Parts: sequence; C-alpha cells; structure tokens
Amino acid sequence: MGAGFVSLRGVNKFFDDVHAVANLDLDVHAGEFFSMLGPSGSGKTTVLRLIAGFESASTGSISIESQDVTELAPFDRPVNTVFQDYALFPHMSIQENVEYGLRTRKVPRPERAKQALEAIDSVKLSHLAQRLPHQLSGGQRQRIALARALVLRPKVLLLDEPLGALDKQLREEMQVELKRIQREAGITFIFVTHDQEEAMRMSDRIAVFNAGAIEQIGTPQQVYEKPESTFVARFLGVSNVFSDQVAQEIFGSPATVNIRPERIKLVAPSTKPKADERGVVGTIIESSYIGANTIFLIQTESGQRVIATRLNEELPDQVNRFVTGDRVGAVWKSDHSAVIPT
Ligand code: ATP
Repeated sequence: MGAGFVSLRGVNKFFDDVHAVANLDLDVHAGEFFSMLGPSGSGKTTVLRLIAGFESASTGSISIESQDVTELAPFDRPVNTVFQDYALFPHMSIQENVEYGLRTRKVPRPERAKQALEAIDSVKLSHLAQRLPHQLSGGQRQRIALARALVLRPKVLLLDEPLGALDKQLREEMQVELKRIQREAGITFIFVTHDQEEAMRMSDRIAVFNAGAIEQIGTPQQVYEKPESTFVARFLGVSNVFSDQVAQEIFGSPATVNIRPERIKLVAPSTKPKADERGVVGTIIESSYIGANTIFLIQTESGQRVIATRLNEELPDQVNRFVTGDRVGAVWKSDHSAVIPT
C-alpha cells in the first residue's frame, strides 16, 4: 500500500455525473496536523468522508497504518470524526456524553468515568463535567465534541470545519487549543477548512484542493511563498501574479511570476532598482489603512496593477509620505518573486 500513515491511491469519486474527487494520491504522515484547504465544492469533505468510510470510493484504494480499509465499514476503521455541528445528546451531562462511546464498547463503569474525565480535562473543561450541553457556550460544546472523539483514542481524527460555527475570536482561541491538544495527544489530525489563515496557523502540511484534485501539498511556508499554480497563489492570500507579457516587460523573460504584496517596497519614482532587485513605476490609485498595515494599489502606465502592503509600524514616515495620486517606484528583491510553472 501507500507510503503514508493514511494513504489514498488513485481514488476517484463520482456522484452521478459530478466528478467530486479526481485520481487522488495522498499520503498523510503519522502524528501530523494535515489540512485540506480549498474553495466550496473542491472535494475536501468528500475526501474526508472517504477516509472515514461514510462514502465509498468509485475506484482506488485507501489504507490506514498499512491496512487496506477500502472495503471496511466506518466503525471498523481506526478513525473518528468531529463535525461542525457537535451533535451532543441534549439530555445527557457532559461527562455522560463523553462516556457514551466507551459505554457502547463495553468499557466497565469506573474505567470509563476515569477516561472520560481525563479527556474532559485535556480540553480544560473539568469544572463543567456535570452540566448539560445547552448550559455551555458554542466553543465549550465544540471542545466537548473533541473530548468525545479523543476519549476513543483513534489513530486518526478527522475534523470537518469544526470551528466554522464560532465567532472570530473564539475561533482563533480554539485554533491554538486544537493545535495543543493534537500535539499532546500525538494523534494524526486531518482537518478540512476553506479558511487559508486557519490552515496556515495550525498545519504541519496543507493540501490545496481545486476541482476535486490537489494543486499542491506543502508546509504553510512552501504553499505561500512558492505556489506552484496561479490558483494556489491567489487562494492563499492576496498576491501579485504577473502574466507572461508583463513578466517580459519587467523581467525580460516570459514566465508567470508571483510576488506577495508584503515583499514590495515603495520608493521615490526616480530610484533605480539595485542589481538584485526588480521594480515598476506607477501611480498610487488607492491606499487603505487597516491598522497594522497600509495597502497600496499602484497602476503602471501600461495598466498593470500592483498591490503593496507596508507595515505602518515599520515605515511611519513613508506611509505618511505616500498618498493616493503620488507617483512611486514599487521594488522587490528578485529572489522574493517565484516563477509559477506552467
Ligand atoms: P464545502 O467547503 O462547501 O463543504 P467541499 O470542498 O468540501 O465543499 P464537497 O462537499 O466534497 O466539497 O463536494 C465536492 C463536489 O461533489 C461538489 O460538486 C458537490 O456538489 C458534490 N457532492 C458532494 N456530495 C454529494 C452527494 N452526496 N451527492 C451529489 N453530489 C455531491
């Protein structure tokens, strides 16, 4: 079978005429926090459900820890899933909810109480163990859903947008919590999200999905700094993707080139780029102050638009100096631009 802890080989999934997953090969390593990131409809949830066994592959095979699980029912696979809606039993206390899976596995009562309380403690909610689900906040319920999955000690935990229902602040707190729990439990996490910041914040590696296929797999830094397609460059934050023709003008060779806005400095229009730099001259057509940064939209004479982001803290004088209507030079170090393979 495959080389990963969780391996997919040649997996296709059709729903009638929808080709939801296309010829997928994927290896997730043991103990890794792995995210599947992509826009709505790109096939991430279907891949998660295929690993869980809630969907069966049209073709291809899936293995977990070298065991072929392609034909196994969900409950025979060493995985557990945490969904966005936490689906806690409303009439059971938190502790009873967490104990439930152990009860169905016939774990004796004292042992299951012990393990449930440990799991509740790992998500830092011991003080709420005797409450009912409706007496908890959304974030607390999400943590209990996690404890309920962790108590069964799965080898792999599958998480489908588990933070989607939480507000921004709680979501950010839970991102830190999830990462801590994953590290401490040493379980392989496979996490589905359409939020690129969330994926970058938590993951060891990210698979970027587009139309049922993986465009690129890498560390957050690799997919952000060295995108291998225009789609990846644009999906992971704001980016400047220069087409072949513009690249010909700037670089003297036709190749699609990507430069992140934070790599672009603003200088006086007469400043010549240094030997290891490239640049264009243009007019600031918009500048937006967004707290930590100011975002400048610059248009060159040929109509090319360039986005530059500058830290207000770093360049207070410059930021004050550059305003809409100014002519500026936009320069960047050559090795901060990445050629996108075609
Ligand atoms: P989202 O972020 O919106 O959940 P996703 O990337 O997880 O999107 P999937 O839910 O995997 O995408 O869907 C992939 C494609 O398969 C979509 O075109 C979707 O409409 C289709 N699809 C998913 N489940 C079914 C189903 N049960 N029956 C028919 N089509 C389906």
